[in-house]
Amino acid sequence: MALHIALTGGIGSGKTAVSERFAALGVPVIDTDVIARDSVQPGQAGHAAIRNTWGNRFLDATGRLNRRALRRAIFTDQALKARLDALLHPLIHRELTVRLKRVDAPYSIAVIPLLLEAGFDDLADRVLLVDATRETRVARAMRRDHQPREAIESIIAQQATESALRHIADDIIDNNTALAALDEQVARLHRRYLDLAESM
Ligand code: ATP
Repeated sequence: MALHIALTGGIGSGKTAVSERFAALGVPVIDTDVIARDSVQPGQAGHAAIRNTWGNRFLDATGRLNRRALRRAIFTDQALKARLDALLHPLIHRELTVRLKRVDAPYSIAVIPLLLEAGFDDLADRVLLVDATRETRVARAMRRDHQPREAIESIIAQQATESALRHIADDIIDNNTALAALDEQVARLHRRYLDLAESM
């Protein structure tokens, strides 16, 4: 059985940048955002759940999910967001469980942005937090997404706090400096995770 590491952190913290470095070392990386996107494709369980709950309200003329409409709705309607999460999170949890069982390597990295919010922490043997100051995260996310500060701040307000994440983290990557500094930190953790996997 493989060792399962959950990689988490707030918006713009650098989860993708870190997971790419693990992938480059040959580590299997499972991305929960991809699982979530797949689950709402026509024919998939998440798509059916949305259609059963809201009819055509969030579907376009071809029957595909209208992501923009859904994003707008959950932005202003907390109850709708909670309902959507309650529908999709169990599906994502189940699929993540299946993919983790299939891992054929000493350890895997699962990128789980909403680790605490979705209660997925039961799936991981260890939690790796990518950490950067709030200001750094806001600046990077604004630049990447071409969004105003308020849009990024409102997402941060919906996410688990930095202190809650630090509380559950077993390992922390400091991503406050240059991207190049990630290489050494990832290499060190890679050795550590291989050792831990060996002694399991
Ligand atoms: P999200 O949760 O929003 O998907 P994320 O945690 O995956 O974000 P990344 O996409 O990896 O974060 O990083 C956010 C942005 O900041 C990207 O454009 C990335 O290239 C950039 N970035 C990440 N780390 C650094 C760094 N150390 N120096 C400069 N830019 C960085």
